[in-house]
Amino acid sequence: MTQAATSVDFVRGIVADDNRTGKFGGRVITRFPPEPNGYLHIGHAKSVCLNFGLAAEFGGVCNLRFDDTNPSKEEVEFVRSIQEDVHWLGFDWGRNLFYASDYFEQLFGYAVQLIEKGKAYVCDLTPEEVREYRGNLTEPGRESPFRNRSIEENLDLFRRMRAGEFDEGARTLRAKIDMASPNLNLRDPVLYRILNETHHRTGDDWPIYPMYDFAHGQSDSIENVTHSVCTLEFEDHRPLYDWFLDELEIHHAQQIEFARLNITHTVLSKRRLSQLVDEGHVNGWDDPRLPTISGLRRRGYTPEAIRDFCDRIGVAKRDNTVGIALLEHTLRDDLNKRSPRVMGVLDPLKVVIENYPEGQSEEIVSVNNPEDMSMGERRIPFSRTVYIEKDDFREEPPPKFYRLSPGREIRLKDAYYITCTGVVKDEATGEVIELRCTYDPETAGGTSSDGRKVRGTSHWVSADHAVDAEVRIYDHLFLTEDPDNVPDGGDFIDNLNPESLVVLKSCKLEQGLDKAKPGERFQFLRQGYFCVDPDSTPEAPVFNRTVALRDTWSRMDQARRS
Ligand code: ATP
Ligand code: MG
Repeated sequence: MTQAATSVDFVRGIVADDNRTGKFGGRVITRFPPEPNGYLHIGHAKSVCLNFGLAAEFGGVCNLRFDDTNPSKEEVEFVRSIQEDVHWLGFDWGRNLFYASDYFEQLFGYAVQLIEKGKAYVCDLTPEEVREYRGNLTEPGRESPFRNRSIEENLDLFRRMRAGEFDEGARTLRAKIDMASPNLNLRDPVLYRILNETHHRTGDDWPIYPMYDFAHGQSDSIENVTHSVCTLEFEDHRPLYDWFLDELEIHHAQQIEFARLNITHTVLSKRRLSQLVDEGHVNGWDDPRLPTISGLRRRGYTPEAIRDFCDRIGVAKRDNTVGIALLEHTLRDDLNKRSPRVMGVLDPLKVVIENYPEGQSEEIVSVNNPEDMSMGERRIPFSRTVYIEKDDFREEPPPKFYRLSPGREIRLKDAYYITCTGVVKDEATGEVIELRCTYDPETAGGTSSDGRKVRGTSHWVSADHAVDAEVRIYDHLFLTEDPDNVPDGGDFIDNLNPESLVVLKSCKLEQGLDKAKPGERFQFLRQGYFCVDPDSTPEAPVFNRTVALRDTWSRMDQARRS
C-alpha cells in the first residue's frame, strides 16, 4: 500500500512525464523553502518528504532555501532548528543551502529591469489606499494616480528608496499589470516596500525589502529549480509568478500545488503554534504535546514513523483532514518493532509476600521483545515486597475484573502466582495502602506445574530494586477535532485540553532504567511506549509516555459526551 501511494501520486506523475518529454533535459531540482519564523511542524514534514523524496527518486537534488524576505520576524534560532529537524527527518541538502536574502541584489536588478520595460512604477499611495484601490472579487480596482510616471522618474525614485531617502511606508514599487483582472494578485501587486528593520543576515544594508511573491518564483529561477512544489493556496499566485518570469525572460520552474496536511485535535499553523508558545500554554517549541518536529522528537516519535505516516497519507490535490489516530497508529507500528519491553508501575500499590523469605531475592528471566527474539532476554530481581498497579486490585471486584482481589490468585508476569490474603488500610481515609499475599513456589516462571490456570497477569517491580521516576503522560492538546472551529467570540485557546499533561511523580520502574539515556525508548508492559526525556538524570529519571498501547481516545470522547 505504501509503495503504491508513493509511486502513483500526481506530483510524481508530472515529474515522470516531464522527464519523458525532456522538458528540463531530464533534470530534477526541487526545494524546501521554509520561512524562518517558527519551528517546523508535521505539515512541513509532508513537504520535506515530498521534495527530498522526489529528488532522491529521480536522481536529482533538493535545495534547502530559507525564504527570509521578511526581516521583522525571522530569527537565527529558527534557522538552526529547521536545519536540525530536516536532518533528523533523514534528509540532506548537501551543499545546497540557500537564503532568499542572498538574492536581494539580483532581485533589485530584476525590479529595475521591470521599471525599464515600463512594467513597474513607484507608487505614493499609503498601504490603506493601496488596499482600497484594489477593489474586491465583485468590483474591479482603480488605477493608482502614480501609475503613469515616466520610466526615468520611476528609476530615480526607486534608487532613492534603495538609498534610504524615504520614510517607512511612504512609497512602494508596484508591478503594472491589470487593475481589472479577476485575479486580485494581478492588480498591480506591491513588489517592494520600505522597512526600517534589521535583517538577520543582511543587517541594515537594505531599507527596502521584496515581497514574498516577488522573491519566491525568482529564487526558484535563480536556483534552476525544475519543479516548484507548494501548497494549494499558491495556485492563485501562479499567474503572477508566470508574469514575472515571462517579463524577465528567465528560467521557469514548473509550479505544482498539492493539499496541505491538516490533523485533528491539533493546529498546524505557525501563527497558532507561536501563540501557544509565547503565551505559555505549552513549555516551548519542543513541548511533547505540540505537532512540531522537535516536540514529536522529544515525545519519542521516530523519523521512520513520521516518514511512514507521510507515505501513508499520500499527496493529493484536494484539502482534507487526517485523524490523529492514524499518526499514532503508524507510530505504534514502528515502536512495536524496536522497543524493548520493561515493567514500570505508574501508580504503585505495595504487595508483601508473606511466605517469601525476608532478605532473599532471585532473578526472573524475561524476554525483551516477544515480537523479535533476537533482542534477547534480561534478568529482573524479585523479592518479598513488590509493587503492582493500584488499578490491578479491587477489594470488591466488578464482573469481568480478573485481576487481584481478596482470596483471588493471579500471575505476576514471568515470576509466580500470588494469592491475596489480606488488605491493609489507612486508618484515617480507608484507602488500601498495602496488600498481604502468599506465593506458590511451584509456579516459577509464571506457570503452574499442576496445570492450574489464572485469568489475570499483572506487571510488577521489586520494591528494593525499584527505580523511582517521574512519568509524564500526554493526551491530545485540544479537546475537539477542529480546534479552530469555535463559537462566535471564542478562540482556539478555549479548546485546549486541560489534561493534556499529567505528571506522575512516584512511579516505580524496573532496575536499570535509571541508566537509560535521553531519547531511549521502551515499551512499559500494558502501559504504552515511553522514552527518556532530556530533563532526565540518573538521580531523577524522567520518562515521557509517547503513546498508549491502544487508542483509548474514542472511548474517552464518548464518555465525555455522555
Ligand atoms: P504556516 O501556515 O504554518 O505559517 P507556511 O506555509 O507559511 O506555514 P513556510 O515556512 O512558508 O510555512 O512553509 C515551508 C513549506 O512547507 C512551504 O512549501 C509550505 O507549502 C509547506 N507547508 C507548510 N505547512 C504545510 C502543511 N500543513 N502541509 C504541507 N505542507 C506545508
Ligand atoms: Mg509561507
